[in-house]
Amino acid sequence: MEVELSAPNGKRWTQPLGLFINNEFVKSSNGQTITSVNPATEEEICSVFAATEEDVDKAVAAARKAFKHPSWKSLSGTERGALMVKLADLVAQHAETLATIECLDNGKPYSVALSENVPEVINVLKYYAGYADKNFGQVIDVGPAKFAYTVKEPLGVCGQIIPWNYPLDMAAWKLGPALCCGNTVVLKLAEQTPLSVLYMAKLIKEAGFPPGVVNIINGHGPEAGAALVQHPNVDKIAFTGSTATGKQIMKMASGTMKNITLETGGKSPLLIFEDADLDLAATWSHTGIMSNQGQICTATSRILVHEKVCDAFVEKFKAKVKDISILGDPFEESTFQGPQVTKAQYERVLGYIRSGKEEGATIMLGGEAAPHKGKGFFIQPTVFTDVKPTMKIFQEEIFGPCVAIAAFKTEEEAIELANNTAYGLGAALFTRDLTRAHRVAREIEAGMVWINSSNDSDFRIPFGGVKQSGIGRELGEAGLAPYCNIKAIHVNMTA
Ligand code: NAD
Repeated sequence: MEVELSAPNGKRWTQPLGLFINNEFVKSSNGQTITSVNPATEEEICSVFAATEEDVDKAVAAARKAFKHPSWKSLSGTERGALMVKLADLVAQHAETLATIECLDNGKPYSVALSENVPEVINVLKYYAGYADKNFGQVIDVGPAKFAYTVKEPLGVCGQIIPWNYPLDMAAWKLGPALCCGNTVVLKLAEQTPLSVLYMAKLIKEAGFPPGVVNIINGHGPEAGAALVQHPNVDKIAFTGSTATGKQIMKMASGTMKNITLETGGKSPLLIFEDADLDLAATWSHTGIMSNQGQICTATSRILVHEKVCDAFVEKFKAKVKDISILGDPFEESTFQGPQVTKAQYERVLGYIRSGKEEGATIMLGGEAAPHKGKGFFIQPTVFTDVKPTMKIFQEEIFGPCVAIAAFKTEEEAIELANNTAYGLGAALFTRDLTRAHRVAREIEAGMVWINSSNDSDFRIPFGGVKQSGIGRELGEAGLAPYCNIKAIHVNMTA
């Protein structure tokens, strides 16, 4: 049920391969597996067991039993918080191993996994651990005839489904608030990148969580994911992934009328006004689209620039991309950009690049595959200019290191272009005019707006979208609401 693995950085570890149910790693009921591939070398890493409907049933039963069991149910918030801090401390102790696995399985640079992704897990777990004994109801004064109060109760068994772009972070964003509120969990990993969170499952057991409180399964979306969404004994589904799957989940969850939160796709705009600091704008524009190989749901993938400063900005931006976006072995310290996560994603991104060329946009930089030593799913950072709002590369989420730049003439036009999409996840704007900054921020249809930065999300600040980018919020205090029921209790005080 486990295998000894090693990575090019010399790290060795014991990799669990099973489904983590009731604090044990088990085989799938029919023995089926999914093979993880290193996207930098195209070599197979190992095969992990993939859950069937029957396995989902077992995981849900374990979570239901644990939800009712005194070893979890009778814990105080303080005690739950202590378990979460213990887990965060174990994650810190195993930081290098977790970052190594993330790099190998996902292709993101090791230095980023170690300095950003693993610390995010620790921060999120500790943040929500802190809330575990501070998340309670109210007494509501309605006059002497009635004593009224609310209690916040866990929802029960939470099914959580995550994507492959930030496996560790996404697991922490889901587990943190759910456990804080006293729920139990069945977490389904993305089939492309199951290894780091399966390793974290060992730490969950070691931290002392009772069996069944956290169950972690790997498996295909339409099989294991769909079984979780439709399961009558699952009280909630929290999903991060594509908008198309989010829509299917809404339909599938309707049969049991589950509580759902969705974090889905985006086509986030970044607006640069004529008075902006163009160096600052170029720096953040680069971060906002080229980080994580462009595989960011909030990637500011459409840059809208005032026509007066467009050429000057494009020059600065190109220089930034050439300077910073170093492609290569993700274990190399100097690498900024690793491979796309899978061959399918690599081909999808190249398809969008082809469509941009065919529809008449100008390639200012990149536009080709860029294998490293003849291997891997690497793509040159690609910058399109002269992009029209009707083009696919302006409208559709590419999820790669590929940005569309278009010019605008007025503030009104900029806002119209920014909102000219089915999505509404993030947005960024650059101006030195304070009044304009806040005015435009309010006009943009998005869940998050960054003024003079891009994508500097923070675990203490709510995260989520409007329109077809999702329903509900994660992170911050707002991230607790989707994981508890507010029960109102009315006490008649009259004789
Ligand atoms: P995806 O929707 O294909 O898969 C995401 C998860 O859903 C995986 O675990 C998958 O197995 C599961 N799944 C797939 N089909 C399912 C089904 N029929 N029933 C239940 N589960 C199913 O998305 P992806 O390609 O893996 O991820 C990329 C997408 O995720 C992008 O669109 C990106 O914008 C989005 N994303 C959004 C956020 C956010 O917070 N808004 C964060 C990260 C990624």
